[in-house]
Amino acid sequence: MPAAIYEGRTISDRIAESIRNEIEKRGNPPRLSVIRIGKDAASASYFRAKIRKGRDLGVEVDAHSLPPETGADEAANLMDSLSADPEVDGIILENQVPEHLSYVELANRIPYWKDVDGATFASLGRLMSGEPCLAPATPLAVMEFMKEMQIPQGSSVAIINRTITVGKPLSMLMLSSNYTPFILHSRSLRIREITRSCDVIVVAAGHPGFLTPEYATGRTSVIDVGINSKDGQITGDADMEKLAPLVRAITPVPGGVGAVTSTMVFSNLMAAIKLKPQK
Ligand code: NAP
Repeated sequence: MPAAIYEGRTISDRIAESIRNEIEKRGNPPRLSVIRIGKDAASASYFRAKIRKGRDLGVEVDAHSLPPETGADEAANLMDSLSADPEVDGIILENQVPEHLSYVELANRIPYWKDVDGATFASLGRLMSGEPCLAPATPLAVMEFMKEMQIPQGSSVAIINRTITVGKPLSMLMLSSNYTPFILHSRSLRIREITRSCDVIVVAAGHPGFLTPEYATGRTSVIDVGINSKDGQITGDADMEKLAPLVRAITPVPGGVGAVTSTMVFSNLMAAIKLKPQK
C-alpha cells in the first residue's frame, strides 16, 4: 500500500486557527520583537516572513532592522532594553549577523521566557532538565507530525542530525514524550541497519535525495526536515518518489515540516505569555 502523505499545511492551519482564537479571547495582542542586523538575504526573507505571518495571526510585531555597521554595544543595548520591556512578550534575533558581532553573545541576552526561538543556553539547558521552556521551532514541528501520524509512545526514532537547532533538542523532546531516539550523524556506523530497525526516521542531513528505500521498510514513517535547493527547485532529504510506494507514512518537501516550523514560533509566543515569571 502506498504511504500516507502528511501535508504540513493541514497541521499549520489548525495551529494558526487556535492561535487566532486565543488572541481574540485575550483581547490584548501579544507583542513579538524581531531583530535583524545586516544585509544577509536569507535573514531578510525570514524576517519579512515572520512580520507577515505575525500580523496575519493578530500579533503585534515590532520590527527592528539594523544596518551592517551597528556596533556591539548598540546591538547589546537593544537586546537588553527589549528583554527588560514588560510590554514585549517574545524576542527573535535573526541568526545571520555581521562578522564583527556574535550571534551567541547577543541572543543569550534574551531571558528564557521571551526566547521564542528556543535558541539560548538557558532555554536549551531547561529543555534538557525537563523544566518549563520554549523549544526550537523545527523540533517542535517534528513533534506535531509525530502526533498527527499517531506514533505510539515507546516507538524507536532514528534522527539523522546532531545539530543544536535540530537533532539535539529533538532528541530531548522525543525523550520527554516517551519515544526512544537514536541520534545518527556523518560518523555513525551501520546507519541503514539502525534506520531499518526503527519505527520512524527523521532525516535532516541536508543532502537532497539522501534517504533512499535501502534505509527503510514497509513499517517506517519518514519525517523529512531537509530543505535543499536543487536545479532551482526546493527538495527534501528523502527520495519521495522511490520511498512513497514503500513506507507507511512520509512528509513532502516543500509543504511538510517547513510549513509547520514557521507557525511553531507563534505557538511559542503564546506559551511565552504563560512562562513569564509572575511578580
Ligand atoms: P547541518 O548543520 O549541515 O547538519 C547536518 C547534520 O546531518 C549533521 O549532524 C551531519 O553530521 C548530518 N549528516 C550529514 N551528512 C550525513 C550522512 N551522510 N550520514 C549521516 N548524517 C549526516 O544542517 P542543519 O542546519 O542541521 O540542517 C539540516 C537540513 O535541515 C538542511 O537541509 C536544512 O535546510 C534543513 N532545515 C530545515 C528546517 C525546517 O524547518 N524544515 C529547519 C532547519 C534546517 P555531522 O554532525 O557529523 O556533520
